[in-house]
Amino acid sequence: MKEKLEALLQGALVELSTVSTEETLHELRVKYLGKKGLLTSVMKGLGSLSPEERPVAGQMANVVKVQLEERLEGILQDIRERDKEQKLRNERLDVTLPGRRRPVGTKHPVSLVIEEISEIFAGLGFKVAEGPEIEMDYYNFEALNIPKDHPARDMQDTFFVSESVVLRTHTSPVQIRTMLKQPPPVRIIAPGTVYRCDSDATHSPMFHQIEGLLVDKGITFGDLKGILTIFLNQYFGSGTGVRLRPSFFPFTEPSAEVDIACVMCKGKGCRICKNTGWLEILGAGMVDPEVYRHVSYDSETFTGFAFGMGIERIAMLRYGISDMRLLFENDLRFLSQF
Ligand SMILES: [Zn+2]
Repeated sequence: MKEKLEALLQGALVELSTVSTEETLHELRVKYLGKKGLLTSVMKGLGSLSPEERPVAGQMANVVKVQLEERLEGILQDIRERDKEQKLRNERLDVTLPGRRRPVGTKHPVSLVIEEISEIFAGLGFKVAEGPEIEMDYYNFEALNIPKDHPARDMQDTFFVSESVVLRTHTSPVQIRTMLKQPPPVRIIAPGTVYRCDSDATHSPMFHQIEGLLVDKGITFGDLKGILTIFLNQYFGSGTGVRLRPSFFPFTEPSAEVDIACVMCKGKGCRICKNTGWLEILGAGMVDPEVYRHVSYDSETFTGFAFGMGIERIAMLRYGISDMRLLFENDLRFLSQF
């Protein structure tokens, strides 16, 4: 019995020494320790031993069984460890290889200009207001002191949706909507899209404006000039020359065109400023009492000013863009430069 067990153990250890896969290891486990395995068949011989020999042989068989089990377990761990290392080696990443970049979008220059201007006016206490792009004739013209037969209607080539509905030709109707909603004081800017039947290198049928309105007690033309000078110096750089020229708008009186010293030639004269040294940048004026009448504001108590500017024109000056159409072609080679 003892010899049989020793031979079995030796045979098993020899066979195990060549195992290299979990599969063959499992086969050997079945061969030696399985229900119909070699150890079981040796143990069956225990019955034929004498009562004195039986416990000794039984104990020996147990020792062999435990030894074999430990060995099998040890080899299993080795195989698994080796396989894991192999897998890690195969899956190793070369972190020095350049990655595949995802294209990252950029903000459109029109959005950039709107954000920058809004930020400056936010610092001056102005809130952003919005209104619809499809607008009633009343808000777009009538309430802004542009009645049906007024020659000023010819200043703006309008897209009509119906007789009383238009695509707004300017952001000024937002002034009316805001004043109808709240009593003074008012301090808003209204950036947005506007539409006119017009298209060439410096005009697009769809473009953007930013409108400003400030109404309070005791506001003067000096406040208008002061606020706009602060804004223009923050936006185009401190020390930028600012001048006001008399102008006409139906909804402001008096009205002014506001120029800045040419950002290209610093006032010396160049192609961009047509050798004048100045660039027209926005329109402004004191709100006409006729506008207050439409929104039931007391024009004896409250005064204020409004201003408006074209975003595309400012973007073109700011970034040196020569053709407005570039802003709407959505060519990524162009847009990704900003
Ligand atoms: Zn110039």
